[in-house]
Amino acid sequence: MGESIRLLHEVALDMVLNLLAPQHRSKSAVEKRLYSLRAGIAGERKVLQYLFNLGLPAEILWDVNLRLAPGHYLQIDVLVLTPFHAIIYEAKNMADRLRFESGPSRLDKLDSEGRLIASYECPMLQLQEEMANLRKWFDDHKIACAVDGAVIMTGSAMLEKPPASGKLFRIRQIRNHISGDYYGDGGRTRQEIVALAEYIRTRNEPYFPFPLLEIIGIAVMDLLWTPVCEKCWRRLERVSERRWRCQCNWETTDPYTRTLERWFLLRSSSITNEQVRELFGISQTAAANLLSKYPLQKVGQGKATRYIWDYKGRLKRIKKWK
Ligand SMILES: [Zn+2]
Repeated sequence: MGESIRLLHEVALDMVLNLLAPQHRSKSAVEKRLYSLRAGIAGERKVLQYLFNLGLPAEILWDVNLRLAPGHYLQIDVLVLTPFHAIIYEAKNMADRLRFESGPSRLDKLDSEGRLIASYECPMLQLQEEMANLRKWFDDHKIACAVDGAVIMTGSAMLEKPPASGKLFRIRQIRNHISGDYYGDGGRTRQEIVALAEYIRTRNEPYFPFPLLEIIGIAVMDLLWTPVCEKCWRRLERVSERRWRCQCNWETTDPYTRTLERWFLLRSSSITNEQVRELFGISQTAAANLLSKYPLQKVGQGKATRYIWDYKGRLKRIKKWK
């Protein structure tokens, strides 16, 4: 479930980026969000793979979202439970020239000439916040567990001025870091570790970033909602009963699926027959017929009828069995 939500999150951010006007004030914020998400997903995958290969008797959790207060969540990519610690690995897959800067703490991306291309949130600061929040969460839940953590750079990034405090590792250093917890006596038993992991899993609330526009603060009117070209993102024109065409000559007979999916990902978790009519310039009957082709849940009566999507994977038409 977590994996599919993040895939959709990536798809949705990519849509926004392609549809926003080049000079839109939120463009670079969306770019950064997408870059961080991709770096996080790729980094997390590598760290998990490495951890599973180590074959330690640890419990490994990922995409952990724990509620600290109403509307306030602790988000952890990778959490490892050992006899002595809960270890957070904040993974970043970056392949650029990066420099950790302080005052304020940030991570600067530079080009080969050393010129600043972009600034990101400092992963070390992020890790320290996550560690403090996890301590608070354990405290609130009356769990005695020491917290440790490291930032793992999984890409081929060239790092300049690594931060003065905190652990910054390459992926292969994880083995050394974690194996210290398996020498000596005491700590949690295997059974207690499994029980703690289960306790955390049952309280995990997956992050759900939809509809995305609300979350990233972009106005509905800043984007195009009618069918767009899958190659160049310009508006499609309907040229015959079944064909829709772009100025770039790209054509399709089904602009509906991607357009509806875009609506659900960015704008609202539900759609009405009237909204479908407006999107495609079709009749009420055609709109009802179109909606029946998708796995949507119909709620309400008459004019208040809405169709709801469940966000489980990409939107697809229901297969006909014949
Ligand atoms: Zn096109």
